[in-house]
Amino acid sequence: MLNVQKTRPLVAANWKMHKTVGEAVAFVRELLSLGPDCAQVDAVICPPFTALAAARDALGESPVQLGAQTMWDADSGAFTGEISPPMLLESGVRWVILGHSERRQFCGETDEMINHKIRAALVHGITPIVAVGDTAAEHAAGITFERVVTQARAAFRGISAADVARCVVAYEPIWVIGTGQSERPQGANATMGEIRGAVAGLERTRLLYGGSVEPETIAELVAQRHIDGALVGGAGLDPRSYAALLTNAAGAMSNRALA
Ligand code: PEP
Repeated sequence: MLNVQKTRPLVAANWKMHKTVGEAVAFVRELLSLGPDCAQVDAVICPPFTALAAARDALGESPVQLGAQTMWDADSGAFTGEISPPMLLESGVRWVILGHSERRQFCGETDEMINHKIRAALVHGITPIVAVGDTAAEHAAGITFERVVTQARAAFRGISAADVARCVVAYEPIWVIGTGQSERPQGANATMGEIRGAVAGLERTRLLYGGSVEPETIAELVAQRHIDGALVGGAGLDPRSYAALLTNAAGAMSNRALA
């Protein structure tokens, strides 16, 4: 049996292409006014690039941390429109989502590119949140396990187990993202158990579930053995909803019975 460590849950909010600078600052102010439960949970918000510096300033000394939604793998150079790891660090970023299904689908990101980005993030001390997921067709064909294991192995190809253990992996069934209907907790847990066993080092990392997670559903998800938190889209856009996600994730993790 895998030696899964009981860990602090992590709830990362991917804002995608939402919120102006003013809206981002307003979110942070309202979230902080709610006194989010960060004593037992790691909270990471991932605004668009344009709002990172303002969000950093608004967060101040708060334990809520800052993430980016993607990055390039070089420190600088002729990569029009891209952002480098040093630029993210300068903006207060300590986490980065890599390989989100929308980046793969709309921006042509390949497993090889994601592998290079993971390496670059680790060199700079930015924690990658590596997203993998199956499409509706793959789910219907019953090849979910095979698909996500293949993605995870390709993403971490050639990376040492010690470095893999410094990453976070998010399993996001593409067929439920943004639908309001999440995968069954037991089904997600089974898939995530396969991911955990796919690459040396993942037995020590946090695995997040993503796909229409709501404050009402996060507790049952985080109660599962292989689910250590969530990567949220829609539910992370509202400060009250995000604060409730943090509270409910913390409660569920402390109750989690390890098999
Ligand atoms: C996402 O796209 O990463 C996501 C999980 O979105 P939502 O929570 O809105 O399904």
